Amino acid sequence: GAASGNHDLRALIRTIPDFPKPGILFRDVTTLLADGAGLRASVARMAEPWEGHGIDKVIGLEARGFILGGAVACHLGAGFVPVRKAGKLPGKVLTQDYALEYGSATFELHEDAIEAGETVLIVDDLLATGGTAEAGIALLERLGARIAACSFIVDLPALGGRKRLEALGMSVHTLVA
Ligand code: AMP
Repeated sequence: GAASGNHDLRALIRTIPDFPKPGILFRDVTTLLADGAGLRASVARMAEPWEGHGIDKVIGLEARGFILGGAVACHLGAGFVPVRKAGKLPGKVLTQDYALEYGSATFELHEDAIEAGETVLIVDDLLATGGTAEAGIALLERLGARIAACSFIVDLPALGGRKRLEALGMSVHTLVA
């Protein structure tokens, strides 16, 4: 579509070395989100493959997945549902622990946010090892969601996330590697 244009999304993503710790190359999408044409093109390119696919809900993973997920949901005419870090959601939740590079974290999902059989699209900014997305997938599967795909702006292929999610039977969609 016209909105997706021919923008160089890669050029709008800033790389910050040694954040949040030495040796990590942090791919900072805040510079892309701050660019009107870049944000619009990113949202359009994430959403367009799923137009007409009956997406009921877009699932955003905290926190950058909220920014993109809300916009992608609006583009598709779908609802938006947040997967949040532990302790933030006020209603009854399902809980899923997941491993980080150092230590672990916990994701939560409102148990009434998805009905069994609904079709969902998972959205986040970046796919690294895939552990974050896998935790979201586990929560959604416990509610009987049908996961159409997982969509990210950035893929870091060397970290294996795509292979990990594809091994779970997921369709993985990314804009920039
Ligand atoms: P993972 O669970 O390993 O796939 O990590 C993905 C999550 O961590 C996403 O929510 C990213 O925002 C963040 N993340 C991991 N590695 C990076 C990186 N090198 N640059 C920016 N964000 C990252």
